Amino acid sequence: MLRLQKLTKTYKTGDQALKAIDLEVPKGQVLALIGPSGAGKSTMIRCINRLVEPTSGAVILENTDLTKLGPGALRRARREMGMIFQEYALVERLTVMENVLSGRLGYVGFWRSFLRRYPQADVDEAFRLLDRVGLLHMADKRADELSGGQRQRVGICRALIQNPKLLLVDEPTASLDPKTSRQIMRLITELCRERGLAAIINIHDVALAQMFVPRIVGLRFGEIVFDGVPAALTAEK
Ligand code: ADP
Ligand code: ADP
Repeated sequence: MLRLQKLTKTYKTGDQALKAIDLEVPKGQVLALIGPSGAGKSTMIRCINRLVEPTSGAVILENTDLTKLGPGALRRARREMGMIFQEYALVERLTVMENVLSGRLGYVGFWRSFLRRYPQADVDEAFRLLDRVGLLHMADKRADELSGGQRQRVGICRALIQNPKLLLVDEPTASLDPKTSRQIMRLITELCRERGLAAIINIHDVALAQMFVPRIVGLRFGEIVFDGVPAALTAEK
């Protein structure tokens, strides 16, 4: 469902963050992208939804090359991709519910979304998601009243409410303690399975990746140096 072809990113500084990456992610597959800091993980995720513009190569999501889309078509394509961030990126002064609903239009329509009343179906879905992640009782709390783990669960709901086909997850546990990190990884991978969602999860914690995902892709200096099951990774080290 997602295919990267010779995906290359060279920043203006001359940093070659991605060097002709080829990668295929089948429908419903969850993979972890691991590698040392500076390997290009974050660049890869951001090139897929074009928060970063690739220098060359193709990003093919269900037969559409996203690198060739104009602004309107890109906006529609981005609704197929949910994004989860390390630092949650919640709007602090809004409630949990409002933060979840803000995901309904995708990030491009972010501010516009506060100018209208939400359809009841969206509100219902937000309640269902909050219930699923155990935050129903927090729906009316402000985002800045939440713990890190709770904030990330709101981030997960916000990404899922637009019913994406692909989740792009950038270091979801980097700001969390080990126990909460495991809970968040379990939640993300379970939700992907329940919803048949594909996901690419950037994560520097190799042990955590091995615990929860069936496929690991290792990046180093902008190149894929490993692609296989978690057990194979252990054997190679
Ligand atoms: P990772 O997520 O694996 O830590 P990044 O994708 O953040 O790696 O970075 C890959 C390389 O690209 C690094 O050499 C980094 O310095 C460089 N890089 C990342 N973002 C930028 C940017 N905005 N401008 C210039 N160079 C960047
Ligand atoms: P630009 O104004 O350069 O087009 P954006 O406004 O799309 O950039 O995004 C700027 C940054 O804010 C992004 O790197 C992203 O991490 C973050 N961001 C944008 N929209 C959202 C959102 N809806 N939820 C969370 N983070 C967002």
